[in-house]
Amino acid sequence: MNWYVHWLSTDNTSLSVLCGLFGLLLGSFYNVVIYRLPIMVHRWKAGLRYADFNLSVPRSSCPSCGHQITPLENIPVLSWICLRGQCSSCSNRISARYPSVEAATAGASFLLAWTIHWGWVLGIALILSHMAMVVTLLAHDIRNKS
Ligand SMILES: [Zn+2]
Repeated sequence: MNWYVHWLSTDNTSLSVLCGLFGLLLGSFYNVVIYRLPIMVHRWKAGLRYADFNLSVPRSSCPSCGHQITPLENIPVLSWICLRGQCSSCSNRISARYPSVEAATAGASFLLAWTIHWGWVLGIALILSHMAMVVTLLAHDIRNKS
């Protein structure tokens, strides 16, 4: 057995904290997916090039002034708190939904690991809970768009 498998299967606190931290990072990525996926589908239907707009291109920017988000401004939850929910360039408000999705993904991941412990059931629970979060918010946005 690898040392990290032994460590995570015997130390549930470390496993839960690690799942929470991964949840923070994944939550940040889910924000990108939830925001960009409907636009990507719309562009694809319009026959526009995939290479010009996808999950990694263009880099994230302020919708108001176009300021490109720097790595320091992109730290899950912390950056939003430090920037007081505003763009560092034009002070345009940044929705509280972004840190909320990050915190919710982290919290759910921590709690699932805390209660389920190490094993394949935890893996499935994490995948299902993350998918539920993304699909719910995608459906909410699509429904409230028009
Ligand atoms: Zn701005």
